[in-house]
Amino acid sequence: MQFKNNLEFAQSLDKSDALQKYRQQFHYPQVNGKDVIYFTGNSLGLQPKNAQKYVDEVMQDWAKLAVEGHFYAEKPWWDYHERLAAPLAKVVGAKTEEVSVMNTLTVNLHLLMVSFYRPTSKRFKILCEEKAFPSDQYMLQSQVRFHGFDPKDAIVEVKKREGENAWRTEDILAKIEELGDELALVLIGGVNYYNGQVFDMQKITEAGKKTGASVGWDLAHAVGNIALNLHDWNVDFAAWCSYKYMNSGPGNASGIYVHERYLDKKDIPRFEGWWGTKKDTRFLMKPEFEPMPNADAWQLSNAPILSVAPYLASLQLFEEVGMEALLEKQKVLTAYLEFILHEVDKQVESSFEIITPKERGCQLSVFLHGEGKPLFDYLMKQGVITDWREPNVIRLAPAPFYCSFEDMYRFGTILKEGIQSK
Ligand SMILES: *Cc1c(COP(=O)(O)O)cnc(C)c1O
Repeated sequence: MQFKNNLEFAQSLDKSDALQKYRQQFHYPQVNGKDVIYFTGNSLGLQPKNAQKYVDEVMQDWAKLAVEGHFYAEKPWWDYHERLAAPLAKVVGAKTEEVSVMNTLTVNLHLLMVSFYRPTSKRFKILCEEKAFPSDQYMLQSQVRFHGFDPKDAIVEVKKREGENAWRTEDILAKIEELGDELALVLIGGVNYYNGQVFDMQKITEAGKKTGASVGWDLAHAVGNIALNLHDWNVDFAAWCSYKYMNSGPGNASGIYVHERYLDKKDIPRFEGWWGTKKDTRFLMKPEFEPMPNADAWQLSNAPILSVAPYLASLQLFEEVGMEALLEKQKVLTAYLEFILHEVDKQVESSFEIITPKERGCQLSVFLHGEGKPLFDYLMKQGVITDWREPNVIRLAPAPFYCSFEDMYRFGTILKEGIQSK
C-alpha cells in the first residue's frame, strides 16, 4: 500500500478498518477536553467499558449473597478463574488445560522456576538476554543464589553486537550450543520491552530443548501483541502479566502456560496450595494433595475475584475480535506510524532513528538524537501519551484495539511542531 501523510488518507484507512468500532469500547483519558492519543498500551492498556459491569456484578453478589456467592453467584467464585483459560489459550496458542490465571507475573516466574529450574553441579546455567527487564533479572539472580550458585557463573547473557540495536538469532543459538550440557534453562522475554524485538521463539526453544535444558518465556510484552503458538513450539512454560496489551487493569492477575507433558503429575517439583487440588474433593479438606489435571495444579490460593473480573471482561473482547484480525490491523497501523515517523524526520533538522528491528509487534522504539525529555513533556501536554526511557528513547505502541490511523497522522503533526518549536 502506498501511504500518504495527510488527514484524508488516514481517515480513509479508518473507514475501511473493521476494528474501528472497538474504539468506542474503551475509556480514554482526556487532555484539553479531547481523547488522548494513547501509545502506552505496552505499559497499561486502556480500560474496556465492560470492565465496570463485571466488577459491579461481583460487588452485588458479595452484598446480596456473601459467602454463598462462592457457589451461587451468577458466575460462582470458586471456579471463576476457569472461565479465563479457554479464551486466553487462544491468545497464546495453547490447549485450554495448559493455561491458568493466578498471582502476578514475577510471583509466577518464581513458582515456575521451582518446577523448571532444577540445577545440578554440572547443569546449572541460565541463558537470558542482556539487560532483561529488571524484575526478571532480580528473579533469576535470587533463584540462582537460593540454589547455592553465584549469578556471575550461572547467568549467561546474550549480548547485542557492537553498534547493533537488536539481538541476532544466530548468536543466541550459538551460545546455547556452546553451553550444551551445562545449560539448565533458557528464559528470555519473548518481546523485548526496550527495543520491541520479537525473538524467534520456535527456533530458540528447539535449540534449548535439544541440549536437554528447559525453555520458558516471559511474555509480558508478547501476549495480545504477537502471534503465539506455545504448544506447537514445544515451549515448556511461560508466564505473562495482563495489564499491558491485555487491558485487564493495573497490577492485575498473571497467566501461566505449562506444556501438557507436565500435567496430571503428582511427582513434579512444585509449591502447592489448596486451589491446586482436584475440584471434586477440594472441600473434603483431606491431608493429601491431589493435583488438578491441568495448569491449575500450580494454583495456591482461592482467586482474587475482584481483579479477575475485569480481566474476564477484556478477554471477552479478544474472543470477539480474535488475534488474527487484531494482528492484521496492527501490521498496517504500525507500518503507517513508521511511515509518518520517516516523513517527519525528513522535515525537521534533528534526526531520529527507529531502533526496533523488522521482527516486531506494535511497538516502535525511537532514539531521538538531539531531542531530550522536553519533547516528551511537550507531547504529554498536547495529549500524546508516550513512554520515555533513558538515555533518549520514546516507545510508541499503537495498540490496534483502540488506536486509529488518524491518531498516527495527528501524532506526526504534533511531533513536528514539538521539534520545531524548541
Ligand atoms: C511488565 C513486566 C514485568 C512486570 O512484572 P510484575 O510482576 O507484573 O510487576 C516483568 N517482566 C517483564 C519482562 C515485563 O515486561
